[in-house]
Amino acid sequence: MPNTEFEYDRVALDVHDLMRSIANKLTYAVGKNPAAASPQDWLQATELAVRDRMVERWMKTTQQYYAQDAKRVYYLSMEFLIGRTFTNALLALGIYQEVSDALRALDIDINELAELEPDAALGNGGLGRLAACFLDSMATLGISGMGYGIRYDYGMFRQQIVDGRQVEAPDYWLSGGNPWEFPRPEVQYRVRFGGRIEKDGDRVQWLDCQDVLAMAYDTVIPGYGTDSTNTLRLWSAKATTEMDLSAFNRGNYFAAVEDKNHSENVSRVLYPDDSTQSGRELRLRQEYFFVSASMQDMVARHLRNKHSFDSLPDYVAVHLNDTHPVLAVPELLRILLDEHQLPWSQAWGLVQRIFSYTNHTLMHEALETWPVDMLGRLLPRHLNIIFDINAEFLGSVTAQYGADFELMRRLSLIDEHGERRVRMAYVAVVASHKVNGVSRLHSELMKQSIFADFARVFPERFNNKTNGVTPRRWLAQANPALSDLVDSHIGRGWRLHLEELAQLKPLAVDPDFAEGFKDAKRRNKLRLVSWVQQNMGIALNPDSLFDVQVKRIHEYKRQLLNLLQVVARYNRILANPDADWVPRTVVFAGKAASAYHTAKLVIKLINDVAAVINNDARIGHRLKVVFMPNYSVSLAEMIIPAADLSEQISTAGTEASGTGNMKLSLNGALTIGTLDGANIEIMEQVGEENIFIFGATAPQVTDIRAHGYQPRQLYETNAELKQALDDIRDGVFSKDEPGRFQQLFDLLVNFGDHYLLLADFSSYMEAQDRVDDLYRQPEEWTRKAILNVAGMGVFSSDRTIAEYAEEVWDAKPLKL
Ligand SMILES: *Cc1c(COP(=O)(O)O)cnc(C)c1O
Repeated sequence: MPNTEFEYDRVALDVHDLMRSIANKLTYAVGKNPAAASPQDWLQATELAVRDRMVERWMKTTQQYYAQDAKRVYYLSMEFLIGRTFTNALLALGIYQEVSDALRALDIDINELAELEPDAALGNGGLGRLAACFLDSMATLGISGMGYGIRYDYGMFRQQIVDGRQVEAPDYWLSGGNPWEFPRPEVQYRVRFGGRIEKDGDRVQWLDCQDVLAMAYDTVIPGYGTDSTNTLRLWSAKATTEMDLSAFNRGNYFAAVEDKNHSENVSRVLYPDDSTQSGRELRLRQEYFFVSASMQDMVARHLRNKHSFDSLPDYVAVHLNDTHPVLAVPELLRILLDEHQLPWSQAWGLVQRIFSYTNHTLMHEALETWPVDMLGRLLPRHLNIIFDINAEFLGSVTAQYGADFELMRRLSLIDEHGERRVRMAYVAVVASHKVNGVSRLHSELMKQSIFADFARVFPERFNNKTNGVTPRRWLAQANPALSDLVDSHIGRGWRLHLEELAQLKPLAVDPDFAEGFKDAKRRNKLRLVSWVQQNMGIALNPDSLFDVQVKRIHEYKRQLLNLLQVVARYNRILANPDADWVPRTVVFAGKAASAYHTAKLVIKLINDVAAVINNDARIGHRLKVVFMPNYSVSLAEMIIPAADLSEQISTAGTEASGTGNMKLSLNGALTIGTLDGANIEIMEQVGEENIFIFGATAPQVTDIRAHGYQPRQLYETNAELKQALDDIRDGVFSKDEPGRFQQLFDLLVNFGDHYLLLADFSSYMEAQDRVDDLYRQPEEWTRKAILNVAGMGVFSSDRTIAEYAEEVWDAKPLKL
């Protein structure tokens, strides 16, 4: 570049370079001239310019993967809740400031552009977000990893709140194009469904099936501050041309087109629920579709690299994120047995060294099973293989324990009660060399409950990997105000070594640091206040305590318990308006599964309660309630940094880990929570005196359930609880339809809900009183909030991934 002014200044050179490449992209890739370009066009041009710089690193990494003959981790997940990529990519590449300057020189505000990017919401909640944090950490640690999933045309639905109720709208996230992905039309695999099996001696053939093609789309996953860059490969369904032609030749044009649409439905939409059975057959098709393509792809790569099958476990580790991808097990076996004629014992031995599995829930209704009939119709060969695995497994159990039929019945991969069903979690356990839970408590309970028998048979398989979150997105990107403050005191190293946050401990009593900390929190609150004002027309008080519960709406997460507290507080204020109230803003956000009636009614109740309280002149600024629509990664990035109080109030024993709890504490919120999931480990890290713990412990919950839960007695004997419940039942918040919430009242008081809401109410109220007391002492509150941030080092997903790499996958970082 012949501009001497910039020659000696690398940064300025970079800015100039960037301006030129953005302008070039606008003209030659987007096809717009600057005068006519919309903000979307500029965003696209900038993304393409940034993408070029990621691609260079990506190719270097890929080259090194081959050159070093490295082992690769394949992370199979039905969900990847990525969110936005633009800012994340800029921070990973270390060019945020330069791009911001380049855009400013073009008279464009980078923040306004960033807000235009749609979220990639290919997931429901925590499980999908965990997969996204793991991709970030694998790339950052330099572990050669590849995510495999589905490129849904429609991601998680967009939640609108209409008249206080959730209304689902489709999320067509690809409408503006997706600059982060590369279509790979040359990478396509045939995925078969249906048909029949023909055995000819040892040879098995799968005939007369319906086919669909899986086509790869690759998304670049940059590591932070490293050349290491990984790939998320998502599969999209394409109709096979043969099928079109056969219908076409029969003279039926419409049947051909219809069929085409039908087979492509398999990657159309994400099922908006990861905790209950739904979608049935199409869901099963989706699961097989993506694992079949992924296993074919993996084996093809292994053979291309000229490796023998015996060495497969030296080069690949396949991780199952929950049971959704378990069909990868019989699929890999099918490929090895039927397509490459490996003997059973060799193939099965390889599989057991390759797979590992993470369990995400102990809730019985969420444990996946498939009817033997349906599986046999859709995947006859795989059902066959599952029966073979079962026979082999039960045979080995008999050899070890004798013919204990009761034990066999319990361990069988097939549930023989009523309609025969395949227990997918059992297939995962039998096929995997390692099985983990996602917090210490959850991993223990897993061994005591759903996998108790397996833990006796395979004690060495079971282990714990407490979840984590990526500090790049959840602190550096989401919270620039706090990040800058932390940087100026302990440096920038925490982005890669989160344990360095412990250096903040002595600063908790440093008045300057505390002042800066309070100021950062206030700026984040103002950002939220302004969003709520602009988007919801509600005025919030930034000096109030921001009490936040953001997560999917589910009975076990107990948003209703929080709401009972809100109603009780409302009644207390009405009874005693002149007392010294700590002003509170209670923020809810979260989606309910579209078929989950109770959860949707809870959303309506939250909104009805909010409408009454927010418009009650007697309450004024003392209490405000907002339900923010469309909880998503982007919304989380705005809400979480603004939180003072983090509500983590699930019934002990039900929340496997939680990651929202980690994000909130990392951003300086104090937790009010039960001894559930990772809350326990958060308490250990931040100190018992810096967290508000309440409620029954997991063993106490078991005890209460066993000895008869008496909700009506709790209701009768706690006047404040009774008043709150009666208000809800009697239509205080639903004057237009007084009976609207009767069923919620009945659920809690008369039926005795499974999640024991009323059992924890009084303990919860006492903990809330302690919260108010502390908030009245701002110095103390801030000191404890700082100690929360300082204690969060171990909850980096880098730590989690390093443990998986070492103890589960046996994968080492590439040398770059
Ligand atoms: C972190 C996160 C979750 C998980 O939250 P939990 O409180 O652990 O249930 C769900 N959704 C989004 C968008 C998230 O970012």
